[in-house]
Amino acid sequence: MNFAFTDEQKMFADEIRKFALKHLAKDALPRAHDPRFPFDVAKLMHAQGLMGITIAQADGGAGGTLMDAVIAIEQVAAVCPRSADVVQFGNFGPIRTFAEYATAEQKKLWLTDLLAGNMVISLGMSEPEAGSAVTDLATSARPDGSHYVVNGTKVFSTFSPDAAIFLVYVRYGPGLNGIGSVIVERGTKGFTIGPPQRFMSAEEWSELHFENCRVPAANVLLGPGGFKKQIASFNVERLGNSARSLALGRYAYDKARDYASTRRQFGRPLCEFQGLQWKFADMAMKLEAAQLLLYRAATNTDRGLPSAYETAVAKVACNQAGFELAHEAVQAMGALGYSSQTLVEYCMRRCRGWMIAGGSIEMLKNRIAEHVFDRRFDQRPPKAEAAE
Ligand SMILES: Cc1cc2nc3c(=O)[nH]c(=O)nc-3n(C[C@H](O)[C@H](O)[C@H](O)COP(=O)(O)OP(=O)(O)OC[C@H]3O[C@@H](n4cnc5c(N)ncnc54)[C@H](O)[C@@H]3O)c2cc1C
Repeated sequence: MNFAFTDEQKMFADEIRKFALKHLAKDALPRAHDPRFPFDVAKLMHAQGLMGITIAQADGGAGGTLMDAVIAIEQVAAVCPRSADVVQFGNFGPIRTFAEYATAEQKKLWLTDLLAGNMVISLGMSEPEAGSAVTDLATSARPDGSHYVVNGTKVFSTFSPDAAIFLVYVRYGPGLNGIGSVIVERGTKGFTIGPPQRFMSAEEWSELHFENCRVPAANVLLGPGGFKKQIASFNVERLGNSARSLALGRYAYDKARDYASTRRQFGRPLCEFQGLQWKFADMAMKLEAAQLLLYRAATNTDRGLPSAYETAVAKVACNQAGFELAHEAVQAMGALGYSSQTLVEYCMRRCRGWMIAGGSIEMLKNRIAEHVFDRRFDQRPPKAEAAE
């Protein structure tokens, strides 16, 4: 067992850090407070080879590993936390599911532009009545000649105000096996995008309404029975979420540690007070433990896809550590940490959201418990009870 990066990984990390310092450091603060997708950063990252790290070379990616993409998130976030979202977009999010299952024709239409940072894809999975219980989704896709007619509503989709295409989970028929997905282009007749709403992080999302929206059959990404494949790819998205949680927690921790080393009160630096030393010792332990779980999940992949259990453990650990570190960092920096002059409060707000997004902490603990007891725990009431 080896806990150190290889020489190639060290070189890769160094190159990204230099790129981030040169191109992303200067505007890190205003960028974090701009809710819209940073297309300028996406184009720079494309030129640097940071888009499609884990996507096959034949599809315009770099054919690298998930661990490489995790390293990219860490190095970028250490300089510009907001830009880590672009690494997520280009490597872990719906783009990865798309690259995994799209037809050659679909890839030709959209993948090149997505990887070049010319357009964004957004995931339409959650619905007003189907959040954690995602398989309750009701958005329907009914075949009609050469098209599917889509009806339903999606909520909370990241990047939806800016996206040109949407990967929409739909129901072709009843039950788990009735679920699959289609690609819907902005501007398609019957597809309305609501006004932007705000998360606590200041990121924006729009409600997506489909009313007799005719989507060409050629836009089907996964037909009936595609749900399990979608969730297998979604574990990649979860690792990107985990990596950003921890990276933003580390960013806040680093800033607070530097502050505690220099800020003086009662005639001595803050770091000389034991109350703060123990805070930082706890933070360091949480950081290191979550980091190892993240690296394990990112390394133990099967054909590029991480295990559901290791991903669940890593995500809970990173979500909790990231938020707790950022939260404590705000405290250790006093009013300055709470103010928007630094990105510490931003990291805290962002990390809070990842405890809910991409499989909430509670839902992932349910998954972990199933592994512990080696049995499935149905979250739904028994059928007779549900019918009452
Ligand atoms: C920052 C952010 C970005 C997001 N981006 C996207 C996106 O791009 N695309 C998209 O489709 N969706 C997105 N979402 C939505 C996200 O997927 C849902 O918020 C998530 O699935 C939870 O659903 P819900 O919010 O409806 O909460 P609910 O499912 O209503 O849950 C409410 C609370 O109850 C808990 N709970 C529910 N069921 C159980 C259970 N069985 N056991 C224990 N606890 C339970 C939950 O953990 C939660 O704490 C995003 C959300 C956030 C916060």
